[in-house]
Amino acid sequence: MIREAWYAITPQSSTVEWWKIGWFPRSIPKHCFCIWLTFCEAHRTLNKMVRWGLVPINRCEFICGQGESIDHFFFECTFIARIWNHFLLLYRFRRRPSGWHVESEWCSQRLKGNDFKSWLTKLTLAAVIYHSWQERNNRLYNNFVRSFECLVSGIGDNVVDKCRGLTQVDDNPTNRELLSNWNLQPILLTL
Ligand SMILES: [Zn+2]
Repeated sequence: MIREAWYAITPQSSTVEWWKIGWFPRSIPKHCFCIWLTFCEAHRTLNKMVRWGLVPINRCEFICGQGESIDHFFFECTFIARIWNHFLLLYRFRRRPSGWHVESEWCSQRLKGNDFKSWLTKLTLAAVIYHSWQERNNRLYNNFVRSFECLVSGIGDNVVDKCRGLTQVDDNPTNRELLSNWNLQPILLTL
């Protein structure tokens, strides 16, 4: 159903630079739908809801003292940036997360390849975005709060589950390190 919705409302054009970041082989559909909403800036962020008169105050749910917007949430917010940065460092990307307009441009350029590292980072980015937005909704509507550690663990579980479904990965030092980071066996590597 998500896939059908995706195709129904997405421009079917190769000129959409972020297409390969939002939809790729062996992705998690509900995560990809969420990242697609992010690329389209379709999330009902609090700055929009204040403008529409739905809520009185724009205050980020992660108690950072800032207002919520697409740029703030992904990934200027110190709490969410810490989650994304945790995985960037795990994959040896040494950069400081920025707002969505800068971050999405970096992702579109840096992750458009078909190598294992690009696939793994795209998978993780989609999981970070999905879980972060779910956490925001739980805090805002259900008064339910998870810690940084809990969120990172949940994202990691999704990534590892997907990696376990792989039948082979090219054998090179980078891929060996990436698998080792997730405590996965090198049996996945091609001989
Ligand atoms: Zn914030």
